[in-house]
Amino acid sequence: MTINLGDVAKEKGIKYFLVSFTDLFGSQRAKLVPASAIAGMQEDGAGFAGFATWLDMTPADPDLFAKPDPDSLIQLPWKPELGWLAADLWMNGEPVAASPRNALKAQMALAAEQGLQMKTGVECEFFLISPDGTEISDEADTQAKPCYDQQALLRRYDVITEICDCMLELGWQPYQNDHEDANGQFEMNWHYDDVLVTADRQAFFKFMVKSIAEKHGLRATFMPKPFAHLTGNGCHMHVSLWKGGTNVFEDAASTYGLSDTGLAFIGGIMHSAQGLAAITNPTVNSYKRINAPATLSGATWSPNSVTWTGNNRTHMIRVPEGDRFELRLADGSTNPYLMPAAVLALGLDGMANGRDPGPRLDINMYTEAEKAGEVKKLPLNLLDALRALEASDVLMESLGELAPSYLKLKHAEWNEYSRQLTDWERAATLDC
Ligand SMILES: [Mg+2]
Repeated sequence: MTINLGDVAKEKGIKYFLVSFTDLFGSQRAKLVPASAIAGMQEDGAGFAGFATWLDMTPADPDLFAKPDPDSLIQLPWKPELGWLAADLWMNGEPVAASPRNALKAQMALAAEQGLQMKTGVECEFFLISPDGTEISDEADTQAKPCYDQQALLRRYDVITEICDCMLELGWQPYQNDHEDANGQFEMNWHYDDVLVTADRQAFFKFMVKSIAEKHGLRATFMPKPFAHLTGNGCHMHVSLWKGGTNVFEDAASTYGLSDTGLAFIGGIMHSAQGLAAITNPTVNSYKRINAPATLSGATWSPNSVTWTGNNRTHMIRVPEGDRFELRLADGSTNPYLMPAAVLALGLDGMANGRDPGPRLDINMYTEAEKAGEVKKLPLNLLDALRALEASDVLMESLGELAPSYLKLKHAEWNEYSRQLTDWERAATLDC
């Protein structure tokens, strides 16, 4: 039975709804709708001018409608009179194919044709910084190895526990919070779930963390590399694939504990990883995190090559146990919907074509990469990644209409960046 959001508002005491969607660059856009008008919005959607957002549209295009998904409703624990809704985009009576949530649902439908469901968990690292964005917010947080620093974690107790309390109240099953490897950096983990549930939660998590940080006079950032000498913000993604109640990645009898299906899924990702980086690492700044030199703490914790391994954190793909793998490629600027859409597309390609991930590498990629032999390197910058995406038949085909739109907007971003005159180039070139 369809949920009637007007009734839900009365039942839960919701006065307003945020009808929200995520555009191609991961920005969240919303209309604030009074509960008295939500029934109409549920039917027809909230109207937007698509060109005013990061979508490939023109000012001449007709209205874009964001139709809220009632199943995604989250009543804000820190402001219970407000309900957040993830919305799907429609135009001219059709779903907009070049929009992230629709793209993810399209891949999920393809998997469902084979009776398959992907489940994911994400680790969204973030920094708590000063409101002007120039420095970390805790001046006492200066240790060279600050990971799991108990004292620094407790100095941010009020912020971290307010966020964790919200997750507890929402039933996300959070299970641990820590200070991460960079000064000022934190990570909060909640239980994995269906890929769309996790994607909506990831979008909401970023909104929630930023909002609660602001309440405490701070600022939160998921920027991939906000400080050159510190470890960046990763967005590690744990992936499993299910048929009914069975995890089809598991095979205790196999060499790596991972089934042939699991190996082929990983093989699909390895096959197209350089193009995938344009989705998982979608900003100019992303490439200051991957391929980075060692940080103050001694390691970047980010990959530089297309390799996979067992329980070893120096590779792009880690298989901690046979029931799942961890993709360590993405960073905090990745789009919560496009990342899993692309990963699922590549997994399905790997399974359909029996892609071989090659041998598992049990080496330290930070110190003995020469032992890896001939392995593909990750792109060095956003332009390399965009070109790799264009060259990837698998990704271009599976992302369909979204791919050219995404590439058009991202090339424009790169062109804008490349016109900037930086201090570094002045210093390096002034005396040429
Ligand atoms: Mg982490």
